[in-house]
Amino acid sequence: MTLSINTNGIQTYKIVDSAERLVARCPETFVGILCSLDGLQATHDRIRGVPRNFERTIETFHALAKLRDRVPNLGVGITTTFCAWNQDEMDEMFELVVRKLKPDNWDLSFVRGEAMVPAIELADVAKYRNIKARLERAYADGELRYYSNMPLARFVHAKERLSTRTVLKTLETGTYQTPCYAGALSAVISEEGDVYPCELLNRKIGNLREANYDFRALWAAEEAREIREFVHKSKCFCTHECNMSVNLLFNPAAYPRIAGEMVREAMGVSLAPDRGASPGPAAAPLAPQAKATLHRETGVRAPIRITARRKS
Ligand code: SF4
Repeated sequence: MTLSINTNGIQTYKIVDSAERLVARCPETFVGILCSLDGLQATHDRIRGVPRNFERTIETFHALAKLRDRVPNLGVGITTTFCAWNQDEMDEMFELVVRKLKPDNWDLSFVRGEAMVPAIELADVAKYRNIKARLERAYADGELRYYSNMPLARFVHAKERLSTRTVLKTLETGTYQTPCYAGALSAVISEEGDVYPCELLNRKIGNLREANYDFRALWAAEEAREIREFVHKSKCFCTHECNMSVNLLFNPAAYPRIAGEMVREAMGVSLAPDRGASPGPAAAPLAPQAKATLHRETGVRAPIRITARRKS
């Protein structure tokens, strides 16, 4: 089993102490902890709005990395949301993250949803493609590792490569690429107990408190069934990387392409960087689409991924 936890890195002692207890209590579980870093110092602190957030995150990362060197079932990564405010400092970010911090993974996602400052959303897809291609080369050259101690790391990384290609295709063509299993295999729960299929689709399945904390009952209710049907029949699409990951992992139709990525990685074939002029900012944050086409049911049974969600 693997567990992935994101942290803003602000409370170093609390984070490291919790991580230490977690890996000790669950020796059979691989725990990946990702520290959020949204840019160089000034950019990161501007986006986060918390004084010294950058310094504290770096401190937390180093403390977690020290712990990782002592325990076999811990991985420590960096996660970054690529956006208009940090897209022009990706070369410096590469130096900092890949060459200085040397994490077990650098998870770089394209901005999605409605940002508090709308200008953040106007990110350049060509610049995103370029840094993702550079990251793939770093993995292929061994400059950046991908959780070398995690079970099935090569397979999971191949799935991540396919996810990157699918996200880029979605961004570059603005079209649906693959069925989404949000609301069927994954859920998001707000701090008030509201359950959603994902953070982007504003359709509530129900409230845990009102349902006496009976998640199964909510999951089996009519509202949940209708939302699943909507997601499937409307061919809802977006670039949500966490959901994209689930969508590929639990869709047997994607397996030959994941295998292809494993072969390509072994042969050192990377994602093509952008060669032409920048197409400019993404036209708009992609909204769920509503085209009536039947969803092809895969019949896959899989665990439900649950994410905590803060209300904006
Ligand atoms: S495609 Fe995106 S917006 Fe639609 S349900 Fe899936 S994750 Fe949510």
